[in-house]
Amino acid sequence: MRSRRSVVRRRSRACRTEVGTPKNLHPPSDLASPPPYLGRVDNLAHALVGAAIGRAAGRDEIPAAGWIGAVAANAPDWSEPLIGFRFDRGSGSYYSLHRGITHSFLGAAVETVAITLAVWGIFVLLRRRTRRRAIDPFVLLLLVFVAVASHLYMDWQGSYGLRPFLPWSGRWYYGDWVAIADPVYWLVPLGALAWGAERHWRDLTPVLLIAGIVLWLVLTTDGVAGWLRLGCVALVGIGALGWIRHWFGWNRRRLAAALALGVLALYTAAQAVASVPAKAAARRAAIQRFGRDAQSASLTNVGFPFTWTTMIASQDTVATAAWAWPRHLTDPAVREALRISPPARALAGFARFLAADVDSSSHPALVTLRDMRYARPPSSGWAVVAVPLPATADAPPR
Ligand SMILES: [Zn+2]
Repeated sequence: MRSRRSVVRRRSRACRTEVGTPKNLHPPSDLASPPPYLGRVDNLAHALVGAAIGRAAGRDEIPAAGWIGAVAANAPDWSEPLIGFRFDRGSGSYYSLHRGITHSFLGAAVETVAITLAVWGIFVLLRRRTRRRAIDPFVLLLLVFVAVASHLYMDWQGSYGLRPFLPWSGRWYYGDWVAIADPVYWLVPLGALAWGAERHWRDLTPVLLIAGIVLWLVLTTDGVAGWLRLGCVALVGIGALGWIRHWFGWNRRRLAAALALGVLALYTAAQAVASVPAKAAARRAAIQRFGRDAQSASLTNVGFPFTWTTMIASQDTVATAAWAWPRHLTDPAVREALRISPPARALAGFARFLAADVDSSSHPALVTLRDMRYARPPSSGWAVVAVPLPATADAPPR
């Protein structure tokens, strides 16, 4: 307790120096945290990709294969509330449970088996009533497995990452390829699903609704690349044309779904390849400025595919091309905050670039921890945890 006294009096000071990182691939003004709704819509991508997987893997044997795929592909997210996750970002459980055990290999295995058994059970019950042909449980298992695995893969390919080896290791892994929300991941599977759907208003209405919302989002939101806007309009146009001209139809719905997954795989591979020089440049910049032990990352930018924000760090500084910020992680007040506050520890386990600020002018002294990926000072809320230190930790007035 004594060690805290002398330190917390110092108010952390921000230093906004320019750093010698190579020119960013993208103007820093566009690099703010993603708008909150964009983070939410990634379940739309999981659902549409899952539906395409369901159609492609269902082999015409599994009824409602697209729906099963959509539900299974979202399982790592919807199973989070079942194990105690709450959307309150002020609580530590948000940072420890979101993309936690439900997004691990172990969690995915449990989800795959549980969903397969549940769906299979439903089909067995239905069959007794309707005398339908029995489904092959292995085809169902494969469908659910690929759909659940697609969630882990898609979450990994961004800069938010996941922890696949929980509960044994809490290490995060990040692909840094495709941003957490990308309209191509919505429109490509949507078009293919529409091409393979029955030609009925019941099937067309949700497609038109989703396409309309996506276009509205992409065209009205600030911070979306011009080429991406044009590309989205083109994708909707191609989708409409293919639907009107019966390019695929119900009989070839599997092919349409597989084609969409192939297009997405190519789109992702192109970004993966383009990220290689960006990551190498980030690594070079980090070593040049902070030495061999420096940390570097190429963070994806929502609305700007094929661009990355370089973030580098030493033990004491986090920096991009536009700013540098002290981390204060060895400050005894910060260590104390991490010791006494479970939410602070949860954030520390989540953060890729953790930085802290100590405000000893307030009583009690306040330690603010943040993940610099998502929360630059002085923002509060998402990715920020503030810990008031007990009064005894404050320095005696002199
Ligand atoms: Zn997820």
